[in-house]
Amino acid sequence: MDIKTGFFNLLILGAALLAATILAFGFSQYAFFEDTSYSERLDKISNEGMQLVQLTNEVLLYGEPRALDQWQQQYRDVGLLIEDNSLSSRAELVEILGPLRIRYANLLPLHEKLTQSRDRNADSQLVDIIASQLYQDSSQLQASLRSLKAAADDSLKSAYETVKHRQVIIFSLFTGLVSVYGVFVSLLFRRTILAPLYDLRQTIHSLRDGKAAKAPVHEDDEIGAVCVTFNHLLDEQETVRNQVQLISERFRNIFEQAAVGMSIVSPNGDWLEVNQCLCDILGYERSDFLATNYQAFTLPENLQTDILRVKTILSGELAFDSWETRYRRKDGRPIWARITTTLARDGADSPLYFVTVTEDITERKEADARLLEINRQLEEQATELKRTNADLESFAWVASHDLREPLRMVSSYVGLIKKRLGPELDEDMAQYISYAIEGSKRMDALILGLLDYARIGRRGGTFESVSLADVAQESLLNLSVAIQEEGACVTLLDGLPKVIGDRSELVRLFQNLIGNAIKFHRPDRAPEVSVAFEDKGSEWVLRFSDNGIGIDPDYYEKVFRIFQRLVRKDQYAGTGIGLSICRKIVEHHGGRIWVLSEPGEGSTFFVAFPK
Ligand code: ADP
Repeated sequence: MDIKTGFFNLLILGAALLAATILAFGFSQYAFFEDTSYSERLDKISNEGMQLVQLTNEVLLYGEPRALDQWQQQYRDVGLLIEDNSLSSRAELVEILGPLRIRYANLLPLHEKLTQSRDRNADSQLVDIIASQLYQDSSQLQASLRSLKAAADDSLKSAYETVKHRQVIIFSLFTGLVSVYGVFVSLLFRRTILAPLYDLRQTIHSLRDGKAAKAPVHEDDEIGAVCVTFNHLLDEQETVRNQVQLISERFRNIFEQAAVGMSIVSPNGDWLEVNQCLCDILGYERSDFLATNYQAFTLPENLQTDILRVKTILSGELAFDSWETRYRRKDGRPIWARITTTLARDGADSPLYFVTVTEDITERKEADARLLEINRQLEEQATELKRTNADLESFAWVASHDLREPLRMVSSYVGLIKKRLGPELDEDMAQYISYAIEGSKRMDALILGLLDYARIGRRGGTFESVSLADVAQESLLNLSVAIQEEGACVTLLDGLPKVIGDRSELVRLFQNLIGNAIKFHRPDRAPEVSVAFEDKGSEWVLRFSDNGIGIDPDYYEKVFRIFQRLVRKDQYAGTGIGLSICRKIVEHHGGRIWVLSEPGEGSTFFVAFPK
């Protein structure tokens, strides 16, 4: 039950107590008035009766007409009073009222008799007898009236006694009940209000003393609800405190274990907190920082910039800023640092403190400088390389071009010698001459190859969108004799893509790769060649596969070098320039070329073109 209902019930009980007391008191007063009115009535009968007795005596003595009338009137009045039926029921009056009524009743005939006797001037002796009889009855009535008066007095006295008694009882009962009520109220007050409030105060004191405490919940009432809420708030406060502690611990850990220097600096530049990393960066102890301010370690030439940056943040123009500056370490060595600082403000937007992250970028700065130097050197070397390459190419061009002339001379003169000597030539000599002609032919082929190689990328042909399907067709046309001779089967995958490039170089590339695939076939089977492609997102990858002699994985790289061959020239004709030309063409188009093979089973040459 809640306190409000409890005390409301108490109030009702109190009011009922008061009402009962008032009722009891009212009843007592009512009974008292009843008793006193009864005794007053008796008193009145007695007084009126006494007056009747008195008038009777007067009648007896004087017998005046006025007295007679008065007597009759009085007689009637008394008669009315004593005939009151309510009195007859009173046990204590039975013995008084009976004789009284008889004596009263006797008075009237005697009185009339006496009056008549006197009026008739009857015998005085008879009058006296009647008078004495009347007097006697009157006296007896008087005696009864005295008894009645005594009864009235007794009744009044007893009424007073009774009312006094009743009031004492009511008062005692009231006082007793009020005391019990008071004790009950105070006990209830103590149990439901004082005790819980006292406990609550004790809890608050304990909490103030830093001890863990909970408010005891006595009852499921208003104070109980307050205590439950209080405890709930305590729990929440505890949770919040734990969270705050956790967060501050985390913050401290992050702050302390950060791999960068971290600090908290007051708006006027005093160090408030620094972490170990910053101490390590600058070589000072934590206490050294806290004894000085931010500007103390900055190199004088960087100080002005730092102050300007800080002022910009303080003015609110920027929420945070990051810049590079230089400090002097405790050992005197200057270092480069990147500062990133942000300003914490309070609710009124006033600056509280800066949170600053300091990174030692000395190594990076030095590395940057080294890198710059290396870049510069590389650029120089690249320029030099380009120049040398160009020289080499023009040298190869000129050399191979110019070499062909004397070679042609040698071969034609050897031919003339062979012709002139004709039949005189013995078998050995004829053999030597044919070797010489053969050699110079081969050398010519080599020089032509070299010329081709040198020509790639030199002709300045413009790049355009080229259909590889067309390129493939053209190269097959060029290879038609070889295809026929070897009985080769060449398949092209439909939809070969378009690329940006030099058409004639691309025809050369296809021709070389398909030509090799036909040429290096196994003697026991006809060449089967396929050209396919794959979309690899940023590039097209072409595949040239054959079922030829294959290439040992050790030579995957070597075959692309100039003049490198894996076969004997009497087995497979060639100069060892084709694949190096292919690589040069592919690289000229920004692509890549490589080979995978299973020796004896066949090879696949891959060419990747950027889209
Ligand atoms: P050449 O064809 O004049 O010999 P290349 O530069 O075209 O010169 O080829 C170099 C060498 O690579 C060839 O001598 C041969 O040994 C090997 N080779 C090239 N293509 C193939 C192929 N499809 N199958 C097997 N070997 C190959």
